[in-house]
Amino acid sequence: MRYLSTRQARDAGGHRAASFEDILIAGLARDGGLFVPERWPRLSAEGIQELAGLDYPALAARVLEPFVADDIERAALEGMAREAYAQFDHAAVAPLVQLGPNRWLLELFHGPTLAFKDFALQLLGRFFDHVLARRGERLTIVGATSGDTGSAAIEACRDRDSLSIVILHPKGRISEVQRRQMTTVRAANVHNLAIDGTFDDCQALVKAMFNDLAFRDELKLGAVNSINWARVVAQSAYYVYAAVALGAPARAVAFAVPTGNFGDVYAGYVASRLGLPIKRLLVATNPNDILARFLASGEYRKDTVRSSLSPSMDIQVASNFERLIFELCGRDGAAVGALMGRLQAEGGFALAAEQLAEARALFAGHRVDDEQTLATIAALHRATGRLIDPHTATGVAAAAACWDDPAVPMICLATAHPAKFPDAVERATGVRPTLPPRLADLMAREEHFSVLPNELGAVQAFVCARAAAASGGTGQRAGQPAGKRVA
Ligand SMILES: *Cc1c(COP(=O)(O)O)cnc(C)c1O
Repeated sequence: MRYLSTRQARDAGGHRAASFEDILIAGLARDGGLFVPERWPRLSAEGIQELAGLDYPALAARVLEPFVADDIERAALEGMAREAYAQFDHAAVAPLVQLGPNRWLLELFHGPTLAFKDFALQLLGRFFDHVLARRGERLTIVGATSGDTGSAAIEACRDRDSLSIVILHPKGRISEVQRRQMTTVRAANVHNLAIDGTFDDCQALVKAMFNDLAFRDELKLGAVNSINWARVVAQSAYYVYAAVALGAPARAVAFAVPTGNFGDVYAGYVASRLGLPIKRLLVATNPNDILARFLASGEYRKDTVRSSLSPSMDIQVASNFERLIFELCGRDGAAVGALMGRLQAEGGFALAAEQLAEARALFAGHRVDDEQTLATIAALHRATGRLIDPHTATGVAAAAACWDDPAVPMICLATAHPAKFPDAVERATGVRPTLPPRLADLMAREEHFSVLPNELGAVQAFVCARAAAASGGTGQRAGQPAGKRVA
């Protein structure tokens, strides 16, 4: 499979198509677009049928195979999937739980950091290692996090020979559980930086490092944010897994997806393009409802970011949405580029009626505010004794508001473990969720991170010193890492 950029002009021709290996390392296309497959592979009904009964790693390898086959051979792919999902502490990896008649919860929080991002990142870390080892190269992964991505990325990259990872988080502005999941990891190639600033400041620092091309090339910077195609496609596997368990291809299913950057729900779209019978993808948003507004009106317009009880969805511009726009524009990269230019310059754009109709054939949107989120957590707890996290609750609430087709099972994605967001859960139910055994002593573990001001020069010096140490350059001691070390 070769890949195109969503902003690539149609007449650019096949010579600009990139391999899976290239787009894995590059992350973002040089023209600012996102990578998408040149064509959609298709699973026949019999092909889907054959997936029934496979265990999760085997099924994931089968779903991924057409996307990576030129670069990673089948046995290696399945081996990496086995290792990745062996890190999960539920035998089913992604267990389905029945909530009520035709209502299901797909638990995606049994990975090392208790959120669905482990599904993609555990595999991504292994893909990186596999490809880099073959090329004899190293990468320094740099990223900013407001919560779940940072810890999932650190767990995925820890102790990997070909990678160093530096994660920036806004000092004092992420939850204690989230911070400790990053800062208590003891691995020589993991470096946490607390920045005196906001999440936006952290993101701006990361962006500035990538835009400093000399710095970027010298240090071989890599990214693991959700625009990486490998992350998206790895997530498509659990849509297939759940649908097949509930009777696909003979029976169609629907999904409710707590949404921020549109990565997870777009993975559902990929599953649908593969041939999985998906009747509806319900995009659940919190008050940051740009996608729900788009699906209601056809207008995609930025608003200011509001903080909510579901912080991993506090996003206004949903990066992966560009991939859907590309399809709605008939895969015309020039048209996508023009729309993205207007988003930048004018804060938004509107699509034509037929484009909106095409989106609505599969997607529907629903906005859930904090009060409804708490009420949903409380109601489900009363009815079933089960605790859900506030992100998951937005999906469950959207499903309750928008879905009543008795012939089509509705699968709500449980994107995080309730113990990751204990304050909101306790506020809703009076019950404080406990961390699973593997993280039970998290609050007692020793933390390691450095604190730096919101200054590009200081952050670059830090990244430089750590990357040099990792590649056997100046060495960790001699490299004099900037910033003080906090134990
Ligand atoms: C990242 C995240 C989301 C949002 O997923 P997107 O792919 O950004 O739409 C939802 N819930 C949780 C718990 C998350 O960590």
